[in-house]
Amino acid sequence: MSLETRAHTALHIVKGAIVKVLGEDAKWSAGANVNGGHGRITVQYNRKPTEDEVNEIERLANEKIKENAVIEIHEMSRVDAEARWGDWIYDLFPLPESITELQVFHLPDWNVNACNKLHTETTGEIGKVSISKWRFRKNKQLLEVSYDIE
Ligand SMILES: [Zn+2]
Repeated sequence: MSLETRAHTALHIVKGAIVKVLGEDAKWSAGANVNGGHGRITVQYNRKPTEDEVNEIERLANEKIKENAVIEIHEMSRVDAEARWGDWIYDLFPLPESITELQVFHLPDWNVNACNKLHTETTGEIGKVSISKWRFRKNKQLLEVSYDIE
């Protein structure tokens, strides 16, 4: 399993932890980047989180990894995916209407997202996640969380 695949899968784990800690107001992803073992997820949010909240995001993400949960990948129609998960499968920027079949990443009770990239089969394969940096951009109402995996 490549480092980038592990770091990409970690995006979903960190995102799930962000929503667990900050709530549904943080559900909309506005961007994601992976480069080697480094990743950054950006979500729309309405305030600067506290240090404690960011520490809790990191702790929960690593707890989910240690659980070694099985990741489900579903190939399904967009209509069925929306019927099952509603707008949780989407990011802030909409998918083109022309896309009618989706690959859906689903980690039950944690994260669901239409995503056509490669993922690890279990969360344990990711390794340890360390949040290296974060910042809240007040004028854009965006929270950026950067992490490294070991
Ligand atoms: Zn993905």
